[in-house]
Amino acid sequence: MTALSNIKVFSKPLVANLAKLGIGDLQSLLLHLPLRYIDETHITPIRDLRMGESAQVEGEIVHTEVSYKPRKALISRIEDASGQLTLRFLHFYPSQIAALKAGAQLRVYGEVRHGFFGYEMVHPTCKAVGATTEVAETLTPVYPTVAGLTQPSIRKAIRMALTQANLAETLPADVYANLKLPSFVESLQALHHPPPEVSLHALEQKTTPHWRRLAFDELLAQQLSMRKHYARRRSVSAPQFKPSRQLVSALLKNLPFALTASQQKVALEIEQDLTQPHPMQRLLQGDVGSGKTIVACMAALQSIENGWQVALMAPTEILAEQHYRKMIMWLAPLNIEIAWLTGSQGKKDRDAALAAIASGCAQLVVGTHALFQDAVQFKKLGLAIIDEQHRFGVHQRLALRQKGQPEPHQLMMSATPIPRTLSMSYYADLDVSVIDELPPGRTPVVTKLVSDVRREEILQRVRDACLQGNQAYWVCPLIEESETLQLATANDTYTLLRQELPELTVGLVHGRMKPAEKQSVMAAFSAGEVQLLVATTVIEVGVDVPNASLMVIEHAERMGLSQLHQLRGRVGRGASKSTCILLYQNKLSETARARLKVIYESNDGFAIAQADLHIRGPGELLGVRQSGVPMLKIADLERDADLLESAKLTADKLLQAYPLEVEQHLSRWMMSAGEYVKV
Ligand code: ADP
Ligand code: MG
Repeated sequence: MTALSNIKVFSKPLVANLAKLGIGDLQSLLLHLPLRYIDETHITPIRDLRMGESAQVEGEIVHTEVSYKPRKALISRIEDASGQLTLRFLHFYPSQIAALKAGAQLRVYGEVRHGFFGYEMVHPTCKAVGATTEVAETLTPVYPTVAGLTQPSIRKAIRMALTQANLAETLPADVYANLKLPSFVESLQALHHPPPEVSLHALEQKTTPHWRRLAFDELLAQQLSMRKHYARRRSVSAPQFKPSRQLVSALLKNLPFALTASQQKVALEIEQDLTQPHPMQRLLQGDVGSGKTIVACMAALQSIENGWQVALMAPTEILAEQHYRKMIMWLAPLNIEIAWLTGSQGKKDRDAALAAIASGCAQLVVGTHALFQDAVQFKKLGLAIIDEQHRFGVHQRLALRQKGQPEPHQLMMSATPIPRTLSMSYYADLDVSVIDELPPGRTPVVTKLVSDVRREEILQRVRDACLQGNQAYWVCPLIEESETLQLATANDTYTLLRQELPELTVGLVHGRMKPAEKQSVMAAFSAGEVQLLVATTVIEVGVDVPNASLMVIEHAERMGLSQLHQLRGRVGRGASKSTCILLYQNKLSETARARLKVIYESNDGFAIAQADLHIRGPGELLGVRQSGVPMLKIADLERDADLLESAKLTADKLLQAYPLEVEQHLSRWMMSAGEYVKV
């Protein structure tokens, strides 16, 4: 890989600016592709201009003035053989007035609009021209850039890269020919400098064969990287656990319910994995309330019965605490020793837990992030279970895995269903199990969209529900910009609701409370002592209080769809009919309306996740902010879904027969094996 700083023609400031764009070598400069294009390949006669289109015009300046009505503007008129066109500049320098003097020949590029004097262009780009200035031969690329790096400079840099970089094909010719895709070099040249006849629209939609070739290459690199990583994990050894003979059947016998067919199916998949001599890397997906916890518990028992410890980690203290209580309920009758570990514990409890974990006395350890800290030493960690995996970063998951020697099996759980294209791409390094049915007897939650001007009615409804023995959540608006503000809102809402509903016991829970306070409020709510629980989105994951059958979410329009679905999943857990009221502020934007419509119309987590993917893109769904997974830059999982399928098949083929090409391809796309992987 040639670093730009080692190439003479790239000046220091240029190299520094490119570095701001994340470009440090020739290959990545080559793959810095245009955002859009402008067509300066021909000159349009003024008479042929069309409203709304961008065009290049050349003419003589006939008149220039600074006008003050309706507001200050520099106005210039140019003329060619076919007519006149107005140019309007709302911001301008004195030097521009001078440059636009009558009689000069000017070439301008801009969008055509209706003006007071017929067609006009506002802030066109202008070039003084001599009699022989030629038009561009190819469409002009417009690149993503940073302040200080102008379009002409970045264009020049890329032109240099095209002459100096290694443009060799990394794919066997029949591979791309069979997919009806052009070669790499042809594609790259065509994207940086498209011939004039290519449709600007197709280019901008990235649907031309050249864009498709590069999208394919990117997807292929991702597949190769993930698959290599997957294969490498398979070559590592892990303890083999025989299927459980006693504990699992004892657990199931005590349960008040029978497993659904779907739970049985995934439990079997996990059981099989655990018998293997290499670490399981499985993602267990299932909609909220589909019953993932019991499946995880069965896996834990298989490990314990084989003499290995299990760690169960949850992203919030509330959720960890709830798992802890549930595990005690299920496993204490089986004489399993369970330890509890969180950051907020007192020193004495913590030391006792650490000792039990180190001696192997604790067979199951439930906790939060505290589980992967240095002080925690397992005697024999055989299985790490991570609930709500997308809430943890790569390093946290890795740290937990490194607590085992040999490497423990890993089961990740997610209640944010992952659309198929996402699991085929970003999750290609994992085996995936899906629970695709809910336990019987649940009545679907009824969702209502209500404008917040009808708050009075909603209060009445909450009052009625609680006085009839049900419980309710009141979820405060999400204020992303400021946690302090969010806290203030939660406190205000709590105070207000206590005044408005004096006949009810109201509780408050938010992320900034001391864990002990949080636990006591949650315990009071679980026990039915608190009737209405005012909460921030801390209750979004996992909280399970079956008697709660009404949820009000304020400012629902501010929340992500999957988040709303998660929140809504907190009700509808018991036998009684549940309702979720989404309060919105009047004057919804077009997108906000579309999003709320999805959540209103669907109770299906997968459909909602698909819509969320469409509206917000994969980054949000993957929780990229925490995970640091490199995102696809060119390929789009929806638009290029067919290419994703082909990339998957091609990856198989190349890994089998073309090891050299695989390395060359990965190196071009700078994905060393494993870079894409979430660990
Ligand atoms: P999630 O998949 O969202 O983590 P949980 O594991 O918390 O869901 O399960 C939700 C609720 O359903 C829990 O109270 C759990 O005990 C219960 N449950 C799980 N499996 C079944 C089943 N097969 N039949 C009835 N109830 C079940
Ligand atoms: Mg759960």
